[in-house]
Amino acid sequence: MKCVKCDGRLVTVRVDDVDVDQCDRCGGVWFDAHELERVLGRGHLTPLARRGAPRPDDDARQKISVVQQRLVTEYGYDEHSAKEALSYVTTLLAQE
Ligand SMILES: [Zn+2]
Repeated sequence: MKCVKCDGRLVTVRVDDVDVDQCDRCGGVWFDAHELERVLGRGHLTPLARRGAPRPDDDARQKISVVQQRLVTEYGYDEHSAKEALSYVTTLLAQE
């Protein structure tokens, strides 16, 4: 399988007992949903998340609040859950 970011090739590497696909070129890591859950369940990403995401600028904040509104109005999230979900996603994206 090819990397979604570059021309590298994804190779399966074993982290403890979870297989993840890692690009042999840029080092990007690709999780299947269940793999991510297993890793998250053990909190392996927590130390990374604690580094914190860079503060979004006004433009990014504007976009985030639009998405947050959509989560609330279209997907039935409450305000708190929508904010939590978005800040989590932002944190993951910041780890590139
Ligand atoms: Zn790559």
